[in-house]
Amino acid sequence: MRVLVLGGGVIGVTAAWYLAADGHEVTLVDRQPGAALETSYANGGQISASYAEPWANPEAPLKVLKWLGKEDAPLLFRLRADWRQWRWGAQFLLECLPARTRHNTIQCLNLALYSRDCLKALRAATGIAYDELDRGILQIYTDAKEFEHGVAAAALMREYGCDRVVRDAGECVAIEPALGACRDRIAGGIYTATDESGDARMFAVGLAALAASRGATFRWDTAVEAIETAGDAVSGVRVRAAGGATETLTADSVVVALGSYSPFLLAPIGVPCNVYPAKGYSVTMDIGAHRGAPTVSITDLAWKIVLTRLGSRLRVAGTAELNGWNTEMNELRCRSLVRRTFELFPDAAERESAQFWTGLRPATPSNVPLVGRTRYRNLWLDTGHGTLGWTMACGSGRALADLIAGRAPEVEFAFLGHRGATPLHA
Ligand SMILES: Cc1cc2nc3c(=O)[nH]c(=O)nc-3n(C[C@H](O)[C@H](O)[C@H](O)COP(=O)(O)OP(=O)(O)OC[C@H]3O[C@@H](n4cnc5c(N)ncnc54)[C@H](O)[C@@H]3O)c2cc1C
Repeated sequence: MRVLVLGGGVIGVTAAWYLAADGHEVTLVDRQPGAALETSYANGGQISASYAEPWANPEAPLKVLKWLGKEDAPLLFRLRADWRQWRWGAQFLLECLPARTRHNTIQCLNLALYSRDCLKALRAATGIAYDELDRGILQIYTDAKEFEHGVAAAALMREYGCDRVVRDAGECVAIEPALGACRDRIAGGIYTATDESGDARMFAVGLAALAASRGATFRWDTAVEAIETAGDAVSGVRVRAAGGATETLTADSVVVALGSYSPFLLAPIGVPCNVYPAKGYSVTMDIGAHRGAPTVSITDLAWKIVLTRLGSRLRVAGTAELNGWNTEMNELRCRSLVRRTFELFPDAAERESAQFWTGLRPATPSNVPLVGRTRYRNLWLDTGHGTLGWTMACGSGRALADLIAGRAPEVEFAFLGHRGATPLHA
């Protein structure tokens, strides 16, 4: 089968790999000159099934209200005269109901756990290297009330197969000795030994090369302009190459993996896709001769930031700002990431080497991604992975390849158009 994958971030490249491995003739199109140059470029690096609890939970509405207008808030709604933001916000409020939160947590957890297994298998089969570390992820709490809430959420995830164990401050320091410098501030932690970390961009670049060696074609510097339909099928995809020439590509199946930009191509053909960008920031610093950087990936729940060692670099990432498709750098938010890093790990890295980056998480109100078939029989979605795109990339790509081949995926998840199970936000 000829399959066209639209989007060459970590999601599109991973789907292309699994489709090529299935023997399809795959072409991937992206407007950038290479793989993972937008949101997948410098994320937090965590493969974190343990972080599957969605932003939308019963405590979220009050917190979001409290954070309105606070420049360094972990989750900041910048209210705009944009119906897409209001629609997303209204659905987000619905997803905060306890039953929805539980459902969404289980969906995300199932896909994340499956994806982690797929990544391990892919690594074993190909030997792909991406500054990976399998030392687990430790979530630390500096607020006792938040810790109590975290312990309850961990219990639900344990019920569904995620090996999260509750640890006191001393045990957290035993897991990650670099936390010794801030031991007095730690209320407790939750450790998931089976979670991992690594550089999503390195992975995507390496996997694109492996897919190319299996016959996949990559058309970089090529913008997707429109999806064309005829009856109940996609008939072609209009693209524009860097030189300005347009052409219409045809395929038996088309996969949309355009991250935060997916709605722009789907709305004109009437395919619902409630994805809105949640902007985040990261800072990458050289560790140099400093000895106080963590080797276990850390999630700091008070600030909702993650700290991950990637080879000789330390990546610190987080914060979310709902402010449309705006990729301007906000110095204050970047500097607050650096400040918090050195508060927790005074001898972490070369402060002057800090490189700031911003990216738009393709967020659904529920955090559950949109994976599966649309009302067009040959149009598939693999988008809306929000905070967990790196974590869920392999599982989504593998499951999508199964669905396209007519096989049942090996994971319990509400795939679009599959057995009638459609997530509420679609
Ligand atoms: C600060 C931050 C920290 C994060 N930390 C983590 C983490 O620790 N763990 C985790 O699992 N996830 C994390 N994420 C989330 C993760 O990075 C994303 O979910 C993931 O990168 C989304 O991948 P994607 O391929 O869907 O999107 P993208 O990487 O944005 O890829 C979409 C591609 O589509 C292309 N495109 C768009 N429109 C067009 C068009 N019209 N024509 C042609 N091409 C087009 C773009 O060029 C792009 O390459 C983080 C995100 C941020 C912002």
